[in-house]
Amino acid sequence: MSDAAPKVGFVSLGCPKNLVDSERILTQLRAEGYGIVPRYEEADLVIVNTCGFIDAAVEESLEAIGEALDANGRVLVTGCLGERAATIRERHPQVLAITGAHAYEAVMEEVHRHLPAPHDPFLDLLPPQGVKLTPRHYAYLKISEGCNHRCTFCIIPQLRGDLASRPIGEVLDEAQRLVESGVRELLVVSQDTSAYGVDRRYRADIHGGRVLETRLTTLARELGQLPAWTRLHYVYPYPHVDELIPLMAEGAILPYLDIPLQHASESVLRAMKRPAASEKVLARIRRWREQCPELTLRSTFIVGFPGETEDDFDRLLDFLQEAQLDRVGAFAYSPVEGAAANALPDPVPEPVRQERLARLMEVQSQISRDRLATQVGRRMPVLIDEVQPDRLLARGPGDAPEVDGLVIVEGAWEGVEAGDFIEVEVTGYDDHDLYAEPLA
Ligand code: SF4
Repeated sequence: MSDAAPKVGFVSLGCPKNLVDSERILTQLRAEGYGIVPRYEEADLVIVNTCGFIDAAVEESLEAIGEALDANGRVLVTGCLGERAATIRERHPQVLAITGAHAYEAVMEEVHRHLPAPHDPFLDLLPPQGVKLTPRHYAYLKISEGCNHRCTFCIIPQLRGDLASRPIGEVLDEAQRLVESGVRELLVVSQDTSAYGVDRRYRADIHGGRVLETRLTTLARELGQLPAWTRLHYVYPYPHVDELIPLMAEGAILPYLDIPLQHASESVLRAMKRPAASEKVLARIRRWREQCPELTLRSTFIVGFPGETEDDFDRLLDFLQEAQLDRVGAFAYSPVEGAAANALPDPVPEPVRQERLARLMEVQSQISRDRLATQVGRRMPVLIDEVQPDRLLARGPGDAPEVDGLVIVEGAWEGVEAGDFIEVEVTGYDDHDLYAEPLA
């Protein structure tokens, strides 16, 4: 964590249920880039998750709020005692906001209001539209902070420091509690998911009485045993990523890889300080698809990077044609304050960047459409995100929330709710979404 990340102090009181809520709030804060600090004085804001079950707990909670106010001054109160806002306000009128029990969405809204997380499309792990309405049935699981790479367009290492992985036991404990609290899909995020554990030299840790290495393959295998989907984001294409494909083929984790490739031209990749081996990436993609035909591949690209020629850009379009990625996010390059790329020669004029972005999106939207077409007739489980009066909005194994498409099941359905899994057969598609019918 860097000095620039907004920092939150957290006090959790009360029963195990409250602890689960605390975990959810902490997970969300970490995923959005907030730092969690152990001391009031270091925090920009303190959250007190209270208990109000018996009088002694009420008093303990009120005292904890008072202590946080004295030491820090900026305090949000949540949890069971939050249901009795008047009691809190009477004793501590200066608290910033009060939310009730199990209301983590409301807590996050208050955090955003009082301590906004900076947004940058190149830096954020989460989609730009934010996560304040994240339903209870999926959760972001942040496994590490920072990054050991030095991509020239990025200031993450300056902001958040070198890679710091959380011990595997801690991550798995959190995952287990999330699943116990009703989460049905875990979205594994970090700046560089495949590097997980490198900084700890894969040191072993304890989970459930077993000794496990802090390593991505081990983590994926363990997460795969939980009764929830596991989806991996931000997987840099290191060789050991190959080890994940069999886990996907056997259904332990979702057959989904989100790999930020950023470009395909070797000279642009070199200028970005990214590995320049597009041919190898294509060969691996072919191999992965042979081993796991259901694999969905998502990637992101930057167009108009300084020095990008028309030839470089054509190389990228050729790569996209060949790779046939399912989902692509693309940005026109824009300088980030403090990034090394700002000093590179030959900036691409803004109209050219925008024109290339539009061309790339046109090429890719046809590819994505063709990929969706191959899904027609497929039978698969989907996770319901929302039950509407005349249709279900769901997602399949190939659809990450917020960034990918949906699986839409038309009709009025009873007896199902958000967070349920149902089996469907895909019957149609449009530019982004699939249409499906439930299997009896
Ligand atoms: S891999 Fe590169 S782009 Fe990603 S966080 Fe690290 S330095 Fe930034």
